[in-house]
Amino acid sequence: MYAIDDFVGAIRHCLQCNFCLSACPIYREELVEAHAPRGRLNLVEAALVDQRVAPNEKVRRRLDRCLLCASCARVCPGGIPLDDVFLAARVELSGKPGAGLTERFVVRQVLNRRVTSSLLKRSLSLARRLGLAPSDIPRVASSSFTRRAPREAAPRGPTAARVAYFVGCGTEYLFPDTGEALLRVLPDHGIAVVVPEGQTCCGLPALALGDLDATREAIEVFLAVFAALEVDAVVTDCTSCGHMLRQKAPYVLPPDDPRLKQLRALSEKIFEVTEFLERLGVQRKHPLPDVKVTYHVPCHRGWSEGVAAAPRRLLAQATGVRWTEMREPESCCGAGGYFFLRHRDVAERIRRRKIEDILATKADVVVTQCPACRYYLQQALADEGPRVLHPVALLAGMGP
Ligand code: SF4
Ligand code: SF4
Repeated sequence: MYAIDDFVGAIRHCLQCNFCLSACPIYREELVEAHAPRGRLNLVEAALVDQRVAPNEKVRRRLDRCLLCASCARVCPGGIPLDDVFLAARVELSGKPGAGLTERFVVRQVLNRRVTSSLLKRSLSLARRLGLAPSDIPRVASSSFTRRAPREAAPRGPTAARVAYFVGCGTEYLFPDTGEALLRVLPDHGIAVVVPEGQTCCGLPALALGDLDATREAIEVFLAVFAALEVDAVVTDCTSCGHMLRQKAPYVLPPDDPRLKQLRALSEKIFEVTEFLERLGVQRKHPLPDVKVTYHVPCHRGWSEGVAAAPRRLLAQATGVRWTEMREPESCCGAGGYFFLRHRDVAERIRRRKIEDILATKADVVVTQCPACRYYLQQALADEGPRVLHPVALLAGMGP
């Protein structure tokens, strides 16, 4: 569970080898040991395990300056789940003053309630006028995706599979075109898609805030809505939702919770949509415009092997696509969910490096499966640069 006591053994297991430094996007920009994974781990140990320093606001701010990208955990030879330790630390510190009251309100009353786009727009506009939200928060789509999506999309031709679609907040509020593409591509390949009513957030924004109660609420809704469905898989278009629902959700419920077994079984059935298509061995059916495409691999890719490989395999073979790899496709873009709104300086420096890499490819389209990456990259590329799309949009024949 996300309690610091559960991670004491892992924290003490650190070899102080510093392998994690080179993987950390923040350290790469700042070259400050205290802002590197090992430095954070040592701080968690000092403040929350050994109580050698007071767990005050300064500690909370230091731990907040982390993208939760999990890059450090992927390279740690000791197998320390660093991002889980940092999440548990945020849970521990979440009751302290200054711990993101506005963000907590958004998570609890907006994302966990799945309010309509129009209500969200009005709330954001009021929050901006009151100075509670920055002026450049992402623009909300005119109508929420699930309010207008069909409850079920029937397959065209013989049924190959039946799946439930977990609609993340990114598609719901920012990029409904991704959901539209998914509901076109899957049925075209014989896959029936159920879009269950009553679904809400995956819980990752709440967990990143350290709000364990709100995270649990999201996971309970997920279970209530999806567990009883008779489907072959649950598909998501968002790698962060998959990361949360596959890897983090089982640690949100208490270890003696009777629903854990059901949650673990459900977690195993979650797939990113292009990975699911590739597993079924499908071929692209829509003609593609002649486009040069490059791929930004989201940081939350470690939850399933095919997440980073599937878009490459599906699109690189597609007629009309000229595939090109950027120099560092797996390096972070700086978005980190809503990290870029709280730590603009370092987020922009990380993004600048990524944008230079993208522009050097001279691609017409950048594909990525994370709506936060998509938003943050598109904001910098503006109108003249390549368009940023979900790979399923290209598979649906949507071009730049
Ligand atoms: S890579 Fe792992 S073991 Fe090495 S310093 Fe970082 S956290 Fe410690
Ligand atoms: S999760 Fe990412 S940003 Fe945070 S310490 Fe690890 S590598 Fe650095």
